[in-house]
Amino acid sequence: MTTKPIRGLERYYEYRERWKAIISDMEKSPVPNPALLALFRLFLENDEKTIDCAENNKPFLSSWYGNAPEIYAAMGIHYICVVDNLLAHQSFTDDLAGIDANIVPDDMCGLIKLGAYAVEKGLVPTPTGMIAMLEPCDAQSVLHESWINNDAWKDVPYFALDPAYRSGKEDFEYFVGELRRMIAFLENLTGIKLDWNRLREVIEETNKQYEIWDEYNQLRRAVPCPGGSFQGSGIGWAISQHIMAGHPGATDLFRMLLADEESRYKANKGWLEKENSRVLWADLIGTVNAPIGEWLEKEHGTVVVQDFQGYTPYSHIDTSTEESMLLGLAKRNLAEVPMIRQARGNVDVFIEDVIRIVEDYKIDCVFFPGHVGHKDQSASVGFLREACRELGVPLLVLTMDIFDPRYLPMDKFTHIVNEFFETHKLGKFK
Ligand code: SF4
Repeated sequence: MTTKPIRGLERYYEYRERWKAIISDMEKSPVPNPALLALFRLFLENDEKTIDCAENNKPFLSSWYGNAPEIYAAMGIHYICVVDNLLAHQSFTDDLAGIDANIVPDDMCGLIKLGAYAVEKGLVPTPTGMIAMLEPCDAQSVLHESWINNDAWKDVPYFALDPAYRSGKEDFEYFVGELRRMIAFLENLTGIKLDWNRLREVIEETNKQYEIWDEYNQLRRAVPCPGGSFQGSGIGWAISQHIMAGHPGATDLFRMLLADEESRYKANKGWLEKENSRVLWADLIGTVNAPIGEWLEKEHGTVVVQDFQGYTPYSHIDTSTEESMLLGLAKRNLAEVPMIRQARGNVDVFIEDVIRIVEDYKIDCVFFPGHVGHKDQSASVGFLREACRELGVPLLVLTMDIFDPRYLPMDKFTHIVNEFFETHKLGKFK
């Protein structure tokens, strides 16, 4: 008797085998990179959990950062973000060609296109429940609509947290009510009761992680910058948002990143022998960052010192009571995690973050990627230009899809940046 394959798992088996092969090659290397090795092991462990849940009918969720994943972690409920693996494995698959053939309009964010494509094509297993996100862009709501119109997902029970628009005390208190409704939904769905002591442990571990990440960032203020372009953003984001929240392995990895950077800082050494310029990348980094960072360093002696994905404006969560934990989670998830922080509500936070980063990190110029999905932010370019003029730093406004490197091909990107740097005497023209 042949058993029908479980929808979505074929792709996950592929991911698992790829991680295993990469890990095994790295272990054999005479100079293995311990941080990357630890990162890939965490990814592998996470995918193995997903496979186990799907194969053995254990409950698991589809969700997003910004939905207080600390709560499901405390309940021991595994969760996936539909697009994570598609982004992590983008260079090994033909998913970008796949989204072109999909019905989602061209001018939407690549993240949304990939999310719709993944569920339609059965590249993710069907979850037990879905925690949807109604923020920070309208496209997110449309994406969930597309999922519940899919035959395989139409019966998946779902819950959506209603976000407040502003960031005052009453907004966070309102969101606490939403988190309580989500807990009730999850308890009802899985029969698992939230253990508040376990939630305290998870939050305390994440508090530790954000403190170490912040320490790592403080060192990046030094001139020359002791770490490479986008270095903390890629890893920090992945291990704080996309694996089980509060995983002690993630805390160890943050410590490794800090120790590595600290060794150069103490020796008064920069990442580059000669640092010409320092860039703020004013958005998420998506999947376009690696070649861009490499080229800027090599060609222009320039480091992308900070970006919105690696910026860590996280506050310590008070774990003394149930209410203080939920209030802290409401603040963290509504007003601190990237993308939601800068795209929900009014333009103030976005501009204030740019000003603070430029001043604190001694930034020489700002790159605004003009991500195709961020029409809200593109509408704020006037404010951004004014802020940069007052700060005395040149601003480069691009147009790209940060999740689809084809939108602004590398040769066009380098041409634009060369002209910009030459005009403003930055990078190798300094
Ligand atoms: S990256 Fe921007 S456009 Fe894309 S889903 Fe997130 S908020 Fe929406």
